[in-house]
Amino acid sequence: MAKRKKLYEGKAKVLYEGPEPGTIVQYFKDDTTAFNGDKKEIIDGKGVLTNRLSEYFMAGLNSAGIPTHFLKRLNMREQLVRYCEIIPIEIILRNFAAGSICSRLGLDEGTKLPRPVIEYCLKSDELNDPLVNEEHITSFGWASQQELDEIQFLVFRVNDFLSGVTYAAGIQLVDFKIEVGRVCDDAFQALIVVDEISPDSCRLWDIETGEKFDKDVFRQDLGSLLEAYTEIAHRLGVMQRPSKTIVKPTLIT
Ligand code: UDP
Repeated sequence: MAKRKKLYEGKAKVLYEGPEPGTIVQYFKDDTTAFNGDKKEIIDGKGVLTNRLSEYFMAGLNSAGIPTHFLKRLNMREQLVRYCEIIPIEIILRNFAAGSICSRLGLDEGTKLPRPVIEYCLKSDELNDPLVNEEHITSFGWASQQELDEIQFLVFRVNDFLSGVTYAAGIQLVDFKIEVGRVCDDAFQALIVVDEISPDSCRLWDIETGEKFDKDVFRQDLGSLLEAYTEIAHRLGVMQRPSKTIVKPTLIT
């Protein structure tokens, strides 16, 4: 097989040139990082789970009319996605307080926010993804005001969709991060959801017990990350729980 051209390697994924123009192959690695790469581990099989879960969320968004870059899953670790121009901003939506907003605003973890709150961070490892506001985004030209309006509309729709499907599975969507890219469809520019949506980029808690099933398990050393992601996959029906083997009694004669 001809060697594929690697376009980019990030902390959790590798992007390769796709088979057709305008496509990219997104490969999910087992590498798990937190605190801007200061904490690192390779967790065998994590990439398989993030690939499947991201497929589930992205395909669901596509079906709900919320456009994403996802085209199809190719195998256990790879998916085919649309090529697009990435807007260099991480868009975070928070329903409950957790993570950095708690220390920044003095909130207790788990506090329900008065309404969903959007925050923006500049994608820059050197600067540790600093929080930025709309003024920064438009004045430095990272996105136009019209695009920001569209991004807000998009992220609220993503929140409605993700909250709904997770709630039905007994999971609270605490917060999540998305990235957005520009594509040209029939000479019109549109914004689509890109990158991944998985427990690596969302906070997901059990509705009843508050147990964490997301990357905080790794950040805070709470147990097995693989078990947490597998629980999410089981609850969403992305993977089946192993059935209990029925051992047939043998007749002793
Ligand atoms: N997040 C992410 N990538 C980042 C930063 C944050 O996917 O580089 C996600 C994170 O998993 C959480 C949400 O965005 O679901 C909000 O993260 P927060 O700002 O609280 O940062 P953290 O506490 O994770 O550093």
